[in-house]
Amino acid sequence: MDTAIHNEPDIDVPRSVTVLGATGSIGKSTLDVLVRHRDRFTVETLTAHRNVDLLAAQARELGADHAVIADSRLYEPLKRALAGTKTTVSAGVDALAEVGHRPADIVVAGIVGAAGLKPVLNAVARGAIVAFANKECLVSAGDLMVRKVQEAGATLLPVDSEHSAIFQVFDFARADKISRIVLTASGGPFRTRERQALAGITPAEAVAHPNWDMGAKISVDSATMMNKGLELIEAFHLFPVEESQIDILVHPESVIHSMVDYVDGSVLAQLGAPDMRTPIAYALAWPGRIETAAPRLALEEVGKLTFEPADPERFPALRLAREALCQGGDAPTVLNAANEVAVHWFLEKNLGFLEITDVVEQVLERMERRSLNDLDDVFASDAEARRLAEEIASNSVG
Ligand code: NAD
Ligand code: MG
Repeated sequence: MDTAIHNEPDIDVPRSVTVLGATGSIGKSTLDVLVRHRDRFTVETLTAHRNVDLLAAQARELGADHAVIADSRLYEPLKRALAGTKTTVSAGVDALAEVGHRPADIVVAGIVGAAGLKPVLNAVARGAIVAFANKECLVSAGDLMVRKVQEAGATLLPVDSEHSAIFQVFDFARADKISRIVLTASGGPFRTRERQALAGITPAEAVAHPNWDMGAKISVDSATMMNKGLELIEAFHLFPVEESQIDILVHPESVIHSMVDYVDGSVLAQLGAPDMRTPIAYALAWPGRIETAAPRLALEEVGKLTFEPADPERFPALRLAREALCQGGDAPTVLNAANEVAVHWFLEKNLGFLEITDVVEQVLERMERRSLNDLDDVFASDAEARRLAEEIASNSVG
């Protein structure tokens, strides 16, 4: 991405914000930042999948103009819950996609999975600022999404903590002076376990992340390290570097959120307590800064920072994601879709922990690579990969 697509907004006037996925972990952290800065931000639209009660409470508290529930069966309950307020209501996947067309200055992309793609692309198409957490969209639609951002003059600001860190220390005007970027990884809850010891892991163990409090899907992705694989692909699209210039380093304390290594030997990093309100606030206020309630980093309490290499043998998701990025075409789309299905089967339907990446690998092997010329190609590869992943997962569970 070049500097031309980071168009600096006027941050002295109040700006309107839409939060896609308001009821999730990113959504709640975003609202925590917004309520502290009611003078700077108004709320345009809030969306959720099924949590009517929380969505309605949020819309009331922030005086949202509009609220959308993606599950169309929940229109009436949401309408009732917001009766007597100024908040208008809509429901269903088309209504969710339409949110992107509404006139918010900033759209926070906080939905989990490729389900967030349509509203994000609609926001991009009208040149909005997108504060971007929903990494699956960028993994799935990749170059096509970046091209749409550039064509529309939209601005994509990373929220993922690693990419926010890199964005804060990346000299876009001198990208040729950057030798590599280093994504740090906590290593997840099973960092020190042998691979065989991972076979019987339960969903409850997998979602208990040591440093971050996140939604179930990304927590499982952190445990398999697919999260870092997806972030590798995300970084490739967000920053003007080659695949070979993106390294992954395990850093269990999650204090250094990522680093940029310059040709003269300087390494610039961004540090902070592991709290998503910091990168969310950075994206909302960019190019300014605003206060948050995130804990302050006290390095004297942390004591020491440790680092170790990432291990693609024990965590094959790292290898699969890098291979998918190198292969190109629809490989990242397929990787992401198969992973979404496999994680769902792990969380809901007894698929084994080690089978998650097995399913992804088999889907990648069995599907012939296609090139992605437009979004219909993305949706077709995504659908085919989901169908095949369902089939393989159901056979694995027996
Ligand atoms: P979450 O599960 O806590 O929340 C997901 C949100 O999306 C909820 O509001 C839910 O209602 C909505 N949603 C889910 N499925 C939907 C569907 N099919 N249609 C419409 N809405 C739907 O997830 P999260 O942890 O907040 O993660 C959101 C995104 O941010 C993910 O892409 C994740 O990888 C990324 N991210 C999260 C964190 C974190 O700390 N939680 C950090 C970095 C990146
Ligand atoms: Mg991250």
